[in-house]
Amino acid sequence: MPICWLISEESNHDPIRLPHLQTVVLGRGPETTIKDKKCSRHQVELKAECNKGYVKVKQLALNPTSIDSMVVGKGNEVKMKPGQQLHIVNQLYPYTVQFKEDLTGDNGSSKRPREPSGDRMSNRDAPSTKAAKKTEKESVPPQNEEATKSRQEGFGHWSQGLKTSMQDPKMQVYKDDKVVVIKDKYPKARYHWLVLPWQAISSLKALRGEHTDLLKHMQRVADQMVQQCQHAGSLRFRTGYHAIPSMSHVHLHVISQDFDSPGLKNKKHWNSFTTDYFIESHDVVEMLETNGKVSVKEGTSELLKLPLRCHVCRKELPTIPSLKDHLKSHFPI
Ligand code: AMP
Ligand code: ZN
Repeated sequence: MPICWLISEESNHDPIRLPHLQTVVLGRGPETTIKDKKCSRHQVELKAECNKGYVKVKQLALNPTSIDSMVVGKGNEVKMKPGQQLHIVNQLYPYTVQFKEDLTGDNGSSKRPREPSGDRMSNRDAPSTKAAKKTEKESVPPQNEEATKSRQEGFGHWSQGLKTSMQDPKMQVYKDDKVVVIKDKYPKARYHWLVLPWQAISSLKALRGEHTDLLKHMQRVADQMVQQCQHAGSLRFRTGYHAIPSMSHVHLHVISQDFDSPGLKNKKHWNSFTTDYFIESHDVVEMLETNGKVSVKEGTSELLKLPLRCHVCRKELPTIPSLKDHLKSHFPI
């Protein structure tokens, strides 16, 4: 059975192991390093159901505990799954849960599971921190390992910025157990989102046949983003990948076709979204299904140098300002 870990998104401490079917009470105290008086010492009770892949979260104290910004409420119990975010109190102290296959062979717990009869175990008694330290390397899942690395190493290089943004709740507009959607930080149109898998996949080149279902899911989520957009009726959208991305961690662009944004500044930007440099999501899925990999045609980088051409009427424009002016005729405000 997999082992469940509770992970501080702020890396305030090592992951805490949540043994199968054992209640763990958390709040202010050394286990969490929370010193905030608004957080009770007995703020939440957590019970992992490792065979089912979720954790039951019960708010014990008065101040709000929340999951994905939805307040649990005192005395209430809510199921939390990987990909969701728990805030221990007042939208603070973010945590995620992860289930990892048990590599230690002790069946998900170093102790026999206790009888569930109202047994409430303080985390101090749990085989948490030491066990976590011992098995951290193999047990901390990639998504959080990435987040932790990002904080420890700063993910200094700009090309790593998406890895930081995807973990940032302020950037996230949707998430589930497989993917997260963020707003593009430098949007090139009125609506511009990026769909990223939690799984650490560096780029299109790293994609293989086994990722097909994941990419189909990314496409479905992208379609949902478009459907829920208030201008879905009046704007056209495209969903696809840059053949040669500049940012690490595979990401699906969901972009409205008005290209009405101050972020669109130069020819490279324009051509990366309006030539074959932009590969439709469906085409990527098809390539994976038929070839087990994504191939990019030779000379693709040259597409970025093509003259500026309106994607609606094909008229050629000499400069970006004149192109933007021209676009107003197709997309009046
Ligand atoms: P590409 O790698 O060419 O497919 O595009 C990367 C996209 O990420 C661009 O549209 C950028 O505007 C966007 N971007 C760059 N840095 C960040 C960041 N830190 N957070 C979110 N989006 C970003
Ligand atoms: Zn035109």
